[in-house]
Amino acid sequence: MATLGNPRNTIEILNKYKFVFQKKFGQNFLIDTHVLEKIIRAADITKEDFVLEIGPGIGTMTQYLAENAREVMAVEIDRNLIPILEDTLAGYDNVTVVNEDVLKLDLPEVVQKENAGKPIKVVANLPYYITTPIIMGIFESHVPLYSLTIMVQKEVADRMQAGPGSKDYGALSLAVQYYAKPYIAANVPPNCFMPRPNVGSAVIRLTKHEKSPVEATDEKLLFRMIRASFNQRRKTLANGLKNSQELSYSKEQIESAIEKAGFPPAVRGEALTLQQFAQLSNILAEMTID
Ligand code: SAM
Repeated sequence: MATLGNPRNTIEILNKYKFVFQKKFGQNFLIDTHVLEKIIRAADITKEDFVLEIGPGIGTMTQYLAENAREVMAVEIDRNLIPILEDTLAGYDNVTVVNEDVLKLDLPEVVQKENAGKPIKVVANLPYYITTPIIMGIFESHVPLYSLTIMVQKEVADRMQAGPGSKDYGALSLAVQYYAKPYIAANVPPNCFMPRPNVGSAVIRLTKHEKSPVEATDEKLLFRMIRASFNQRRKTLANGLKNSQELSYSKEQIESAIEKAGFPPAVRGEALTLQQFAQLSNILAEMTID
């Protein structure tokens, strides 16, 4: 089977199977070998690795992964792609294709069974309509993991990497940085895909922290606070926390916690670092809800 990462071979296989693109599955297939090579390099794939690929499409990146990894598991939702994958991956004995919605997969169980519970690497050109649920679902599942190397919308990559003071800084930046260190490895223009998406894309590597950079006594409270402060971006942090449906602290408790943390009363959430959010959540966690 010829490698797929170019327009000619991609069109040939699509025609052979009369494949019809499904917009609802976010199908934009890579047709650029340089980008594929960059992804493999950014993911630092070696013959030791078990790789989970989300959404293999016609198997373009899967072929590269199979060449470089020990074992690849590729999870594809669209059953019309399964016969194509059987064809394009026929030459590899280290690839398993699973026809499933990745959001329904019990990842810790898969990793326990397939990789003896040892950390895996996730690589994906993600369907953009469910980027955040996929990433957060993987982190929150606490599956043993080295890194996620993923193609996402450029704007989403910028948000994941942003810090305080940037217009892109928000709840996604903090959620991702709580679990991992982000690094944008490449910007990818629409003409590297078939069909072309309407937005620019970027490859971002999220290297899982061995230990979280902050100590939050109540992780759920920390995330509720982060969501509350960015839900109402123009409001002060105190007002954001007071107005939140997810939090039940009184006005006095919130103001006193902000003061105790040493922040100005009118501080905005967007000015706080992850460490400062954790500090404030630890103060609130000690207070009993009125
Ligand atoms: N990896 C291929 C490539 O780079 O050419 C295809 C990438 S395409 C952007 C996204 C792929 O994810 C599609 O094949 C799509 O059918 C699949 N997909 C969409 N939603 C999915 C889900 N919930 N679970 C698994 N695969 C999904």
